Formats: sequence, C-alpha cells, structure tokens
Amino acid sequence: MSGISWEKNVDVQPYNTFNVPSTARWLVRVQNISNLYELVNSTQFHNKRSLILGGGSNILFANAQYDGIVLKNEIQGIKIQSEDDQHVTLRVGGGVEWVSLVDYCVQNDLGGIENLSLIPGTVGAAPVQNIGAYGAELSDVLVAVEVFDLDTGQARTMPKDECEPKYRGSIFKDTLKSVMICAVTIRVVKARFYSVNTGYGLIRDVLLELGISTPTIRSVSEAICLLRKRKIPDPKSIGNAGSFFKNVVCDDSIRRSIESVDANTPFYRNPDGTYVIPAAWLIEKCGWKGRQFDNVGVSSRHALVLVNLGRAEGREIVWLAELIMRDVQAQLGLLLTPEVNIIR
Ligand SMILES: Cc1cc2nc3c(=O)[nH]c(=O)nc-3n(C[C@H](O)[C@H](O)[C@H](O)COP(=O)(O)OP(=O)(O)OC[C@H]3O[C@@H](n4cnc5c(N)ncnc54)[C@H](O)[C@@H]3O)c2cc1C
Repeated sequence: MSGISWEKNVDVQPYNTFNVPSTARWLVRVQNISNLYELVNSTQFHNKRSLILGGGSNILFANAQYDGIVLKNEIQGIKIQSEDDQHVTLRVGGGVEWVSLVDYCVQNDLGGIENLSLIPGTVGAAPVQNIGAYGAELSDVLVAVEVFDLDTGQARTMPKDECEPKYRGSIFKDTLKSVMICAVTIRVVKARFYSVNTGYGLIRDVLLELGISTPTIRSVSEAICLLRKRKIPDPKSIGNAGSFFKNVVCDDSIRRSIESVDANTPFYRNPDGTYVIPAAWLIEKCGWKGRQFDNVGVSSRHALVLVNLGRAEGREIVWLAELIMRDVQAQLGLLLTPEVNIIR
C-alpha cells in the first residue's frame, strides 16, 4: 500500500510566512524516510523539479505557481541519543518546529540553543543557513545531520564539518541542494556545567531591565523572546521572512571606504580579519527604513525586514528587494545578498 499521497494544485499561502499567494503543482508530505524511498522510485517523481519545504519562513514564492513538487518535511520526534555527566545528545526529526526543540531544552535545563529562541521554521532547515542570533549559531551545537539524496535515492549521515557551516550558509545552501535533511543531531550541555552566553549587549540590557542578575538558561531564553518580539514583526500579523538580506562581509579597504561616507559606520571584526557591516544600517542609511509602496514595505522596526502589507504577491516583494539592492549599491557601492531563498 502506498504511504505517500500526491496533492495537486495546493494553495501554499498558508505555508509561507510572507503569506504571499502561490500554488504548488504537486505537494507530497514526508513523514518518514520510507516516504522518500517510495517517492524517488515512483515514475511521477522523475523529470520534475522539486522544492523541500519546512515552515516556509525563509523562502519567497516569486510566482503565482510553483511548477513542480513541494516536499513538505513533517518528520517528527525528539529523542535522547546518548548522555554523559555533562552533555545530552539529541536526535531530532527534520519536521520538528525549531521553537519546540528550544522549549524542550529550556524545560530540561539543557544549554546551547536558548539564544536561538523564537526563530521560526523547522529543525531540518536550521543547518541550511546555519541559523544564528544573539551571538550563537546552530554550528555551536551541531553534531551531524541525516540526509536523503533525492538524486541518488540514498540516505547517509554527514558530520558537522561536511555540512560546511558558515555565516548564514552551508553546503546545503551553496551546492548540495538535492538532499532533504531528515534528522539533526545536536549536543547540549547540562545546566550545572553550562555558562549562559550573554555577551551580546542587548541581552544584558534586557536582563537588567527584568531585574535578573544571575541569568539561567530559561531567563536568557525569556529575555531573547522579549527582545525579538520588540524588534521583529510577528509573521502571524504581518507577513515577513525575518532578515531579507545578509550582513555584508568585506575587507578593510571596503570598510574604510564606507567609513569615509559616514564615520559612525558600525562594524565588527571577524577572527579571520574580515569585517562585518550590518545590512540593516546600510539600508537605513540609504533611507529605506519604514518606506511603504502599495502592498509592500520595509519594516519601521527593523530595516532588514521586508513586509507584506496585506495583499502582496511574491513578485512585488522581489521588486522591492531589487530596488533596495540597486539603491544601496548606487549610494554606497556595496552589493547586498538576499538571505531569503527566492523560489522562481
Ligand atoms: C520573523 C522571523 C525571524 C527570523 N529570525 C531568524 C534569525 O534570527 N536567525 C536566522 O538564522 N534565521 C531567522 N529567520 C529565518 C528562518 O526562520 C530560518 O532560516 C529557518 O531555519 C527556516 O526554516 P523553515 O523550516 O521555515 O525553512 P523554509 O523557509 O521552508 O526553507 C528554507 C530553505 O531551506 C530549504 N530546506 C527546508 N527544509 C529543508 C530540509 N529538511 N532539508 C534540506 N533543505 C531544506 C528550503 O528548500 C529552502 O531553500 C527568521 C524568519 C522569520 C519569519
């Protein structure tokens, strides 16, 4: 008996946090690895393009139809794989919501991902752009991922190094696009052996505001949820995909050329000697923060967040993103790179 069903002409508006209208020619829900073996062995699968979809919080459907197969990752389960005095290693299904995993760790006093609280999306998508926020990244805790290659029909385990995690990217974002991440293994630390990471100034400010002088895993998570709610519009009320662009990584000569335009240009230095200039600052500097055009705009709370003002189509958001990119390049000579995956 067949375990997968082929849903045809599926409305994917509820499946993307930009809340733009689009339909998928086919949609298949993947609940276990057997579904994937069945899929690649079916004649219907061959010669069609496919898109792996998690929570749709980092994609933009640019067109009214996606003429291919959307594979919706719904693989569940959080299991303890091993444990020692100090650590717990968890194996988590790719379709688990990232926020549920953070909740699990906070409830069980396990440290390592509390700074990544409230990031939408699925666990399976987290290694794709090596999710990060407030001084932490998935790669800090990542051990390995289990993938299924849709081209070869084979499953395998990739240790962290093979995933090539980097700032908002990985091998899955760059070259290895044919695999679905079915499970992720992370190693977190038991509270009594763990020091919370409050190095990011804004976290300390909020903890102070909350009157917390000895932060715990839970209080850091709560502080970050508060910070995020203040800064980033909730996609349930206003469609968005978080930061639309990546921060700019450049060498010292480029940094100095921007500094010659504005001596107050914020930046920080990476250990490898490159510099990071916040894209939000560049966009704000060019006058885009809070601007609105019919159905689309730039959030007034955060210049990196492009928003659907209600009835936007994907192509309007692409139009705005390209307009901003051209303008920042014309004014400051820097090319912004989208962080969001644009699906054409
Ligand atoms: C309000 C808001 C705030 C955000 N804040 C942050 C933040 O602080 N830090 C941050 O890093 N990101 C942030 N994001 C972006 C987003 O939440 C993350 O990138 C998240 O990991 C995307 O998960 P998803 O399941 O929604 O992926 P999707 O949007 O469904 O997919 C994203 C990409 O990953 C691929 N993909 C998805 N699942 C898999 C899989 N199982 N195997 C292989 N490829 C897969 C897709 O094909 C697509 O290319 C934010 C987004 C929003 C809406």
